[in-house]
Amino acid sequence: MTDKTGKTVLQRYMGIPQPEDRVMCEYLWVDGSGEGIRSKCRTLDFEPKHPKECPVWNYDGSSTYQAEGSNSDMYLHPVALYSDPFRMGKNKLVMCEVFKYNGKPAESNNRKSCNEVCEKAAEEIPWFGIEQEYTMLDVDKHPLGWPKNGFPGPQGPYYCGVGANKVYGRDIVEAHYRACLYAGIKIAGCNAEVMPAQWEFQVGPCEGISVGDDLWVARYILHRVAEDFGVIVTFDPKPMPGDWNGAGAHTNYSTVKMRDDGGIKHIEDAIEKLSKCHDKHIKAYDPKEGEDNKRRLTGLHETSTINDFSAGVANRGASIRIPRQVAQDGFGYLEDRRPSSNCDPYSVVEVLIRTTCLDEC
Ligand code: ADP
Ligand code: MN
Ligand code: MN
Ligand code: MN
Repeated sequence: MTDKTGKTVLQRYMGIPQPEDRVMCEYLWVDGSGEGIRSKCRTLDFEPKHPKECPVWNYDGSSTYQAEGSNSDMYLHPVALYSDPFRMGKNKLVMCEVFKYNGKPAESNNRKSCNEVCEKAAEEIPWFGIEQEYTMLDVDKHPLGWPKNGFPGPQGPYYCGVGANKVYGRDIVEAHYRACLYAGIKIAGCNAEVMPAQWEFQVGPCEGISVGDDLWVARYILHRVAEDFGVIVTFDPKPMPGDWNGAGAHTNYSTVKMRDDGGIKHIEDAIEKLSKCHDKHIKAYDPKEGEDNKRRLTGLHETSTINDFSAGVANRGASIRIPRQVAQDGFGYLEDRRPSSNCDPYSVVEVLIRTTCLDEC
């Protein structure tokens, strides 16, 4: 069988030794859509150990929905370093923030303000764990493994399923998991989801801003791995209309007080504050200020409705769920089930801290 992907031939070139004093650094950033991720590579003559050692760089913002052609230079400020699971060795993935020529953050740079808020609330030691759901599509945009002229059987057997008629795309999941561990991402686990060809991985618990860095780089790695398999990954919150589950980014959140004995009181206080800021949170939970998420948050398929706030123990139809174990222990964390799969985690983290720690609404 011929290898149409060319990956076997590629191995011959990947075996060429890399000079000791040359390190490939793939710079990553969020584009103007607020959900697309872009990257480009440069050679450094040393191995960076800290993002600040990587030079500021630039790119053409007019090609990423970020600037007019006449004034199109955008600046990349490195903020987090990862081991590159594709090139390996000393090579790096470099997560960046984007700034405009006038020194202001780009519209899609939600990290800067998130970081400021995280610093203000540092004493609360906020932890986040995000459950990233996503869907694999064939290159024809049809879900991977689905019959080409119809639908698979109804939902039920697929969640955490096993077998060639239950799950599609496990090789990609496995490759992604390994690659994330190697990169230094705090990946917590993964599972097959309710809709066939839909999967989830979790990142966390991470302190503050790092959950956003880890999640964006994990998304980048997922797109790259899937590209190798000739498969498309979508973070659309409702890729298949009808009786099929959508995709979210449940955000598990705690402060040091919530994690201590008697923390349930602080969890309940936070929920009370969240109940008063529902609309503000919905706006922050997808890149189109609720327009994407309203296709998903219908009140069906383990979601709450987009217009109403609700909370409950072990309730998967609520905006906020207190896990059963947390209610029993009397301390732990809460789960905000509203964020969309295509959310910007920096925006989610920022608004959660603003509402619950800084009393802003
Ligand atoms: P679910 O039961 O909703 O499917 P998962 O097991 O998929 O939950 O994900 C739970 C997430 O919660 C994980 O990412 C985990 O790291 C995170 N988590 C666990 N404890 C805490 C905590 N104290 N604060 C914040 N996140 C936490
Ligand atoms: Mn989960
Ligand atoms: Mn899930
Ligand atoms: Mn969940």
